[in-house]
Amino acid sequence: MSKTRALLMKKLLTICPVCKKPIYGRDIDINKIDIKKINRWPMKYVHCHSHEKTPLHALTLYIDANFSVRANEVSDILKIQDV
Ligand SMILES: [Zn+2]
Repeated sequence: MSKTRALLMKKLLTICPVCKKPIYGRDIDINKIDIKKINRWPMKYVHCHSHEKTPLHALTLYIDANFSVRANEVSDILKIQDV
């Protein structure tokens, strides 16, 4: 793992506006993202989580090519159907 990638794992990307959960690079498996396959920036990444007493919700992160979060959006109405 390169030094940059190691730093990205520890990088605080954003704090969820709903539940205040801090989202770090490791939370979005930043090292598994193949940036060569991303053809549109900022990329959209959806992170579903529940935190403390807040029920499950989806946090959409808009991440630029420097892995900085430009914006985020929350949806608390969601269904994950994986068939
Ligand atoms: Zn949250």
